[in-house]
Amino acid sequence: MPIEVTFLGGARQVGRSCVLVKAGGRNIMLDAGVDVGVIEDPFPLEPPEHPDVLLLTHAHLDHAGYVPHVVSKYRTPLIGTPPTQDLSETLNVDYLKLKKDEAPYTFADVMNVRKHSVDVLYKQPMHLGGGVEAVLLRAGHILGSAMIRLKAEGHVVLYTGDICARNTRTQTMIDLSMSDADTVIIESTYSSPSDQHQSLQKTERDFALAVTETLNENGVVLIPVFAVGRAQEVMLCLEAYIRSGVVPKVPIFIDGMIRKVNVIYRMYWEHLSDPIKKQIRYTKQNPLESEMFIDVEERKDLVKMKKPMIIISTSGMLEGGPIVYYLKKFGDDPKNLICLTGYQVPGTRGRMLYDGLRELELEGEKVKVEAKVAFFDFSAHADYPGLLRLLSAFKNLERVICIHGEERKIINFCERLESIRKVEAYAPHNGETIKL
Ligand SMILES: [Zn+2]
Ligand SMILES: [Zn+2]
Repeated sequence: MPIEVTFLGGARQVGRSCVLVKAGGRNIMLDAGVDVGVIEDPFPLEPPEHPDVLLLTHAHLDHAGYVPHVVSKYRTPLIGTPPTQDLSETLNVDYLKLKKDEAPYTFADVMNVRKHSVDVLYKQPMHLGGGVEAVLLRAGHILGSAMIRLKAEGHVVLYTGDICARNTRTQTMIDLSMSDADTVIIESTYSSPSDQHQSLQKTERDFALAVTETLNENGVVLIPVFAVGRAQEVMLCLEAYIRSGVVPKVPIFIDGMIRKVNVIYRMYWEHLSDPIKKQIRYTKQNPLESEMFIDVEERKDLVKMKKPMIIISTSGMLEGGPIVYYLKKFGDDPKNLICLTGYQVPGTRGRMLYDGLRELELEGEKVKVEAKVAFFDFSAHADYPGLLRLLSAFKNLERVICIHGEERKIINFCERLESIRKVEAYAPHNGETIKL
């Protein structure tokens, strides 16, 4: 029997990642995400057959936001690393608060997932029945993130989820030690040849210099971030640069979901990168718990506070969260600086600022942004050279299936892979089934 792979979401788009693999008579679901920004089709398609098990790559909502629905409806076990299980619960509770009646599950459904969750560590072999073996491999993207390797009918399929091909402050890059895949289902977020990140060291240096300049002028630095991953990367970067004396020591205020997520990052410090683990062991102090970071109690107190200071807050694209409040209070001063730290989706306020627009509508009010705006690429996704490097590690590769990207990029990426790598490359549509 050939293995059948059905794409229920995340094909030719970024959002609602969900794949069903049928192998050895078992239906194995990989990820169950939502599309956060859209009103139309925010959820994956219903699976044609009852899934027997759900494996999760990582906690971001575009991969895990639909998990409580799937687990409640089909009573499937949920397999993931321990940090992924905890982070996804936290993010799903937050998603539920945001969506209220439009959410596809209740708070009880989120809590019900605990009864079905099965913790698995990287490289711990699993037998899913029907002769299907599975293993999770480090993906380098965020705390607990994994790639999923399935072996069935003598065929190896690797589903990458989101991957990072370089070391970051919190994560060691992807683990390519099991490179025997015949088929790779790969994320394609940055799959165009012009998608090349500059080195993270250079990004961090530029960021530290811009922050320093603003602080020296007695300004406020506003840093909108995603709560999981980017927030901690930025915190650790600032902590290191302040400790070494490059950036002046000022209070760093933390607001929004980041505070809850930080608790989990601190809890799973042994899942962080080697340099951070060493730092924690030798100094007996977790840099994420440094006294330079202050959780915000009362937002309005910050406005009266003595400058300079740094505020790190959600949401990363300024679409909601406490950052909107801070933008209103501090956005009108040309001495202040807004640091965008990741990709900004078209249509978001973050993108408008990135594109040079300086008048935003905030809660019905037109607000002029006089503060400086700068972009720093802290991306935790593999860029084009990174994706090619990853694929070149697989010697027996027959087929690449490209998902999790803009349609145009994915189609071009497939054409390039067929000509450069001489492999079959597919750009499936949602609802399509590919037989391996
Ligand atoms: Zn992700
Ligand atoms: Zn993703």
